[in-house]
Amino acid sequence: MSKITVVVPCFNEEDALLIYYWEMEKIMDQMADTEFELLFVDDGSSDNTLEIMKKLNEKDSRCQYLSFSRNFGKEAAIYAGLSNAQGDYVAVMDVDLQDPPELLPGMYRILQEEDYDSVATKRSDRKGEPKIRSFLSEEFYKFINKISGTEIVNGARDYRLMKRNMVDAVLEMSEYNRFSKGIFEWVGFRTKWLEFENVERCAGETKWSVGKLFRYSLEGITGFSVAPLSLASVVGVVFCLLSFLMILFIIVRTAIWGDPVSGWPSLVCIIFMVSGIQLFCTGIVGQYLSKTYLETKHRPIFILRESSEERKRDETGKGNK
Ligand code: UDP
Ligand code: MG
Repeated sequence: MSKITVVVPCFNEEDALLIYYWEMEKIMDQMADTEFELLFVDDGSSDNTLEIMKKLNEKDSRCQYLSFSRNFGKEAAIYAGLSNAQGDYVAVMDVDLQDPPELLPGMYRILQEEDYDSVATKRSDRKGEPKIRSFLSEEFYKFINKISGTEIVNGARDYRLMKRNMVDAVLEMSEYNRFSKGIFEWVGFRTKWLEFENVERCAGETKWSVGKLFRYSLEGITGFSVAPLSLASVVGVVFCLLSFLMILFIIVRTAIWGDPVSGWPSLVCIIFMVSGIQLFCTGIVGQYLSKTYLETKHRPIFILRESSEERKRDETGKGNK
């Protein structure tokens, strides 16, 4: 019998966790011929999320949990889940039911019957999302796909079911600055895309502020494109050509009309503009440098505080004494 591990990152999700479990219970009953492991990852929650996970683990041995020492972010939670998953198939799913569990049986069937290594999902619309957020997201996808060789699918969710070989490939990419949407594409393999209509959160609130999304998009750009680094050289060449034309123009003009001193304001404007562009380009280099700096430190992607595995070991240890 094959086993599916469902990795569920949770950050302050006490309101959504049980609702999610009830929904998943139905799906697991429906797929009775498959073994399941629900691997909840508590990403340093400050509410009762971990307590609920522990209760679920006592009640249902299919529910396992990992708990971080602090909030490391969803990307770290996904990585931790994938590295601890026991299944032959591994799914990544949000706990707020925005990734419909009803799709899972169909996804599993596709992997068994068709020649694919992974089934991924994307939203066909962004209904219910603030207009400004949708607009910024759309622009981000347009931009990153222009400058990156790795396709970042617009509207793609992290919700997907993968075969073991793909999971192992994703785990090989142990970079510190993680951008899953890019990583899943980068490793290749054959992926089938399913579309579904956007669903609103079942409970609780989104953990993504505009600022957090902005930093996440920078992660995507620096992680999967080096095009911005060549911006300085391109702008440099353009400015050299321009200045050459301007020198010619000024020589000719002075030869014909003489040299009345004027043009202070325009000079100041040009200095401002050029130094602005220089700082901007230095900033881009700085972005990449800071990512490289963090990468070379080889810090762990996440730190565990406790887990169901450890708890079981402790309990059996005590029982033996
Ligand atoms: N999440 C997490 N760590 C974080 C932020 C979010 O593990 O620092 C989890 C969260 O609990 C949820 C999923 O990632 O299961 C998606 O988060 P959310 O629903 O807030 O994002 P949105 O759906 O609004 O993009
Ligand atoms: Mg959500």
